[in-house]
Amino acid sequence: MDRATTIELPPVVHDNDPKALAAEILSCLTYRVGKDSSVATQYDWLTAAIKVVRDRIIERWIASTKESYEKKQKRVYYLSMEFLIGRLMRDAFSNLGLMENMREALQSLGVDIDMIAGLEPDAALGNGGLGRLAACFMESMASVDLAAHGYGIRYVHGLFRQEIQDGWQVELPETWLDHGNPWEFERRERSFEIGFGGTVESITSKDGRLERHVWKPQEHVLAVAYDTPVVGWQGRRVNTLRLWSAMAVDPILLAAFNAGDHIGALKEANQAASLTRVLYPADSHQAGQELRLRQEYFFSAASLQDILERHLSQYGELHSLPDKAAIHLNDTHPAIAIAELMRLLMDVHGLDFDMSWDITKRTFAYTNHTLLPEALESWPIPVFERLLPRHMQIIYAINAEVLLEARSYQRYSDEQISRISLINEGAERRVRMGNLAFAGSHSVNGVSGLHTELMKETVFSDLHNLYPGRINNKTNGITPRRWLMQCNPGLTSLIREAIGDRFLDDTEALSELNRFADDAAFREKFASVKRENKNRLSNYVAERLSLRVDPSAMFDVQIKRIHEYKRQLLNIIEAVALYDQIRSHPEKDWMPRVKFFAGKAAPSYNTAKLIIKLANDVARVINRDPAVRGLLKIVFVPNYSVSVAEIMVPAADLSEQISTAGLEASGTGNMKFALNGAITIGTLDGANVEISECVGEDNIVIFGLTAEEVERNKRDGYVPRAAIEKSPELAQALSAISSGVFSPDDPGRYRDLINGIYERDWFMVAADFDAYADAQRRVDDIWRNAPDWYAKAIRNTANMAWFSSDRTIREYARDIWEVHTGEVPPKSN
Ligand SMILES: *Cc1c(COP(=O)(O)O)cnc(C)c1O
Repeated sequence: MDRATTIELPPVVHDNDPKALAAEILSCLTYRVGKDSSVATQYDWLTAAIKVVRDRIIERWIASTKESYEKKQKRVYYLSMEFLIGRLMRDAFSNLGLMENMREALQSLGVDIDMIAGLEPDAALGNGGLGRLAACFMESMASVDLAAHGYGIRYVHGLFRQEIQDGWQVELPETWLDHGNPWEFERRERSFEIGFGGTVESITSKDGRLERHVWKPQEHVLAVAYDTPVVGWQGRRVNTLRLWSAMAVDPILLAAFNAGDHIGALKEANQAASLTRVLYPADSHQAGQELRLRQEYFFSAASLQDILERHLSQYGELHSLPDKAAIHLNDTHPAIAIAELMRLLMDVHGLDFDMSWDITKRTFAYTNHTLLPEALESWPIPVFERLLPRHMQIIYAINAEVLLEARSYQRYSDEQISRISLINEGAERRVRMGNLAFAGSHSVNGVSGLHTELMKETVFSDLHNLYPGRINNKTNGITPRRWLMQCNPGLTSLIREAIGDRFLDDTEALSELNRFADDAAFREKFASVKRENKNRLSNYVAERLSLRVDPSAMFDVQIKRIHEYKRQLLNIIEAVALYDQIRSHPEKDWMPRVKFFAGKAAPSYNTAKLIIKLANDVARVINRDPAVRGLLKIVFVPNYSVSVAEIMVPAADLSEQISTAGLEASGTGNMKFALNGAITIGTLDGANVEISECVGEDNIVIFGLTAEEVERNKRDGYVPRAAIEKSPELAQALSAISSGVFSPDDPGRYRDLINGIYERDWFMVAADFDAYADAQRRVDDIWRNAPDWYAKAIRNTANMAWFSSDRTIREYARDIWEVHTGEVPPKSN
């Protein structure tokens, strides 16, 4: 199918001066929102402002799409169950260089841009780091001029909204689509039927040979595309984030309706819609429910049909797929796409198994995000077989191929073979999605140096042995546009003043800041920017929590999902120990601190929810105790989200990255903080290791067991009780918590939690406690010497350029996808 030629638009000249923008906003409000300025709500103004800028984006969007087509560029398809994009307005305005003019334009209409920016809902289509990575990658792919499409699910309710009531987490539905979504384009014409269940028929030829299989699904739902344009830095390229929404094939069963069954008539419509209603709020833990598998298949299958249709319309055949399409699996959630591509190639397009398998492996690549056993997806065979009978057959066929390779190339033991198998032959037979993703991809990457090495040694050691060279590392990154330029305009201006604008295009230029670390005047300015950001956070906390914090105190921040391996508990216990010390040694020169926490717990994860309650209980007691004299405050900021992170990250002095070594695959929060001039207190885990190498050991505070030592401890029978007995401060803090000092209304509330540390301590809280407390006192010592503190803080910002997701994406492009990216702007020495 050839493309029709575009009928050229008469050249639209967009005038971007504030007057012209104001006129356009007003016209948009009238004709596209349908409101008069006298009755327009703030939301209407927000919609009008976004649509005016969106018009400018659409032209570049069409041009980008056309260019990829005409140049026959290889396209990257990034499949991810989650895209934690947050708000888009600032991102788009600032990447197009329209922020200041839009501010002025809106002001002339009596509208405050910051006010309406705060109304934009936070698109929380993700749980945490994995989803935020996908969002940073989308922005970077557009910024480095790479032709890419993101594919995911348009959840009607994103991640739940968290409220804290009486110290407990309460989950409320997120309703981000209530006021419409001016960024998205519904593409009803771009819809595909997705099947579930049913049977598989074998078609044989006259002489009885098996020709092919035909899957006859029992149910069908429609996947409808919703497109959001993603603008790169300087509007260089605009890519597409395509999110699928489910609809019934028959929106109403008229026969049932006419027979008076009004509810039955809508049953299918409701069932279909429920497929894309919720995002499973499980982080580092597999949801394990049938609806989740349906969601995974639904969006993978819709994306693959879309990809194949685009490829066929341009190239007319499928053998060239691996040369023109790189399909990336962000974790195992879309791994079923491997079996789906095999099915489409064999059953629909008539290719044989070997050819299909070759095309599939050369097209797919997979990123692993966790080694935690409870997070590795697997599905019970009976469920899988009932829902996706043809895919089950294909997975058996792939498995036969893989095990044959294993048996013929290497003399593996039965035990090794059983670990390589895509099927876990336990009491309950299950399909291992990680093994499927590994076998069906030409590249499997970890997300930090340490994580990649551990992957080779643990979960995938046998597959690594069978397919050496397939595992590679791509350390995560963050987009410096959102995580420096937009969230920290004060620091951005200061850096521009000092080293010019080049770092805006090429983050590497930040290293020029190193020479300012010893410049007293610059340090003062750096400190005053930090102070401004701390004021902003203090105001936020005062407004929302009616809590006063002193912006001259050290802001010590731990914000991330609440999980035992991330060890918020270690931080809270240390705060309790410090509280005790402050009261027993009032004469000492304590450095005032405010400890901030924020983060959501999966609703079914009771221990994590109890840790939230503990943080709030401890906060209530400490914040009210006059004996503490304001030297220590604890604040739990509710509803952690991208927007909350954008306020908290620039205001942090100290970044808490204290996971049990070996358990945090990379972390990206750690990168955001260091880039914004916070000093990290952390373990040698995930990307902390590389942050330490980049910023230098003198500019980070590292403590605790290494991953190897944690492993050794576990192997050699670690006895937490012994560690606790050696540390009177820890013992005292644990006993205070356990005995109800912080929970007089329910003294036994934390008994089991603390007993867990005494008896198992899986996350090595006791083993690392003394090292952590010592490290905190080292932090105090640095803080005591302000010039030294800010010199270190500046060196953090100056040396974090490598963690730009532009760098990460260029590595993926070069090593995994083999696609072209735009040039790095030339370095002017
Ligand atoms: C960056 C980010 C994360 C990831 O934080 P980690 O500390 O790496 O776990 C999670 N949630 C949000 C909203 C983020 O912005």
